[in-house]
Amino acid sequence: MSQIKVLSDTLISQIAAGEVVERPASVVKELLENSLDAGATQCTVEVEQGGMKLIAVRDNGNGMEPEDAVMAFTRHATSKIASVDDLFNIHSFGFRGEALAAIASVSQMTLRTRQSAMNAGSEVVFEGGILQSKGAVGCPPGTEILVRNLFFNTPARKKFLKAETTELSHIVAVVSHLALDNSAVGFVLTHNGKQLISVPPESTKIARFAAIIGKKMVEEVLPVSFVTPSITINGFIGKPGAELASKRHQYLFVNGRDVTDPLVARAVIDAYGSRLPGRTYPMFVLHIEITPSEVDVNVHPRKLMVKFLDTQRIYRDVSQAISQALVAYEQRGVSMPVAHETQAPSPTFFVPQASLGMNYAPSANAQTFAATTTIRTVECLAQLANSYLLVADEQGLALVDQHAAHERIMYESFKHRAELASAHTQQLLVPLTVECSREESFFLTDALEHLTKMGFEFDTWSGGTFVMRACPASLKTENLEKIFRAFLDEVSSERVHKTILPEKLLKSLACKAAVKFGMPLTHQEQQELLTKLAQTPNSSTCPHGRPTSVVVSFDELERRFYRRK
Ligand code: ADP
Ligand code: MG
Repeated sequence: MSQIKVLSDTLISQIAAGEVVERPASVVKELLENSLDAGATQCTVEVEQGGMKLIAVRDNGNGMEPEDAVMAFTRHATSKIASVDDLFNIHSFGFRGEALAAIASVSQMTLRTRQSAMNAGSEVVFEGGILQSKGAVGCPPGTEILVRNLFFNTPARKKFLKAETTELSHIVAVVSHLALDNSAVGFVLTHNGKQLISVPPESTKIARFAAIIGKKMVEEVLPVSFVTPSITINGFIGKPGAELASKRHQYLFVNGRDVTDPLVARAVIDAYGSRLPGRTYPMFVLHIEITPSEVDVNVHPRKLMVKFLDTQRIYRDVSQAISQALVAYEQRGVSMPVAHETQAPSPTFFVPQASLGMNYAPSANAQTFAATTTIRTVECLAQLANSYLLVADEQGLALVDQHAAHERIMYESFKHRAELASAHTQQLLVPLTVECSREESFFLTDALEHLTKMGFEFDTWSGGTFVMRACPASLKTENLEKIFRAFLDEVSSERVHKTILPEKLLKSLACKAAVKFGMPLTHQEQQELLTKLAQTPNSSTCPHGRPTSVVVSFDELERRFYRRK
């Protein structure tokens, strides 16, 4: 008997769903793209339990005829292309005709749609890809799609879903990205009944940028505008000195498609050149418009990438566009901050005094240190390359990595404060306003409890604004904004699991607050760093596990100088 069978359409769709529908956020992306393709000017997304229980997308677009409402769920059914030539002249998001069929095959799905000229709308209900009912229904013009219990019939896939907050953060990212490029369309996102995003249709891209990424970020960016007959590149890039610790604020839209492209990212970084300090990333929002035949959009099932036909030209045009923007900014006579100066917080060292439960400032206590016994065992001889402290130790010569060492000191200090909770809170004289992007404000809300335990106090305002009223006593207030921004950027982009959030917060705070590698320290500061290191628990490594010092013992020296065998 023949072993080979043709798979059923439902099973084929479920297999295809594996590529198209990775997680709830992919459903939101596909449905919103359909709404935009249908000419919607207002899109509302309502999700419950990170989209795992419910995703509802409503739009005021063109709607569908009753026949199409069912047809739309057939695999490879699309109104957007008709021939292979069309593939190279695509002006819509969709073209594969796969999304509705794929989503329907792994969920319980209801579609209600009405064209404005029709008296009534149509409703179709699918479960696991099988049509359950269809009929007329009263509904407003446009389309409403409800997706319930995603992966209810594919438990193996369901197991791969992450925590509710992780899935939600992916959804927030999808809506933010689409909202950034479609400024004329209003977007609303609610989760478990709480509104997370609400932006009205806007007339300019900069207004939308401010609404999604934050009003304050507008001051940190430069406009990019580069036009040739074959390509238009416009958008915004971060000013030199406003670079970030992660790639999170890098948005690229190619003919309106939200994609990532390593070549474009490279071209941007190369254009910044030495303006960009090591291990930092420029922010950019770039909208590239090129002739559709110059770009293949059919290279990724979830349409997350495109393929440029002439990659060299794209590299050249993007780097030129960015260079021009940077040079124009510099020539306007705006003094350019030296990158490493803006990065490094001035050194302030804090000693975790577990028994006393207090910290003290170095200048006032320099004398106190010299009275201590530790100073006789560690004497700083010099600073090497603004990075290493050369130390005369009882065992020999020690080389201390100043950043790693201070990172450990700060880490233990923060940890200690976190344990002692609000006892070490310091009220800010001038409260600090932190404007957040949607993702950041989502993360901040989520992490608020942990931050409070560490000594922060926030007032939450609507529209992604947080007002910091107090911070841990050990965080130097002068650099507070920079340190906090960098930290927020890192934790929100990494989407860390809630349980390791406190640990992550401690590590990033310690890293950002620690004196940098390459930073000159006065002799007094060098000495204080060593003294505090000697009083700090776990002082042999930094919080990431790197050693804080390397010792060349007298034994070793004697062997090297052939004084002994
Ligand atoms: P594609 O977008 O690739 O065409 P989909 O499976 O996403 O494939 O959608 C199938 C078809 O259903 C679309 O081509 C479109 O005609 C119709 N459709 C889907 N969503 C909407 C919507 N929100 N408004 C109007 N028509 C829609
Ligand atoms: Mg589609």
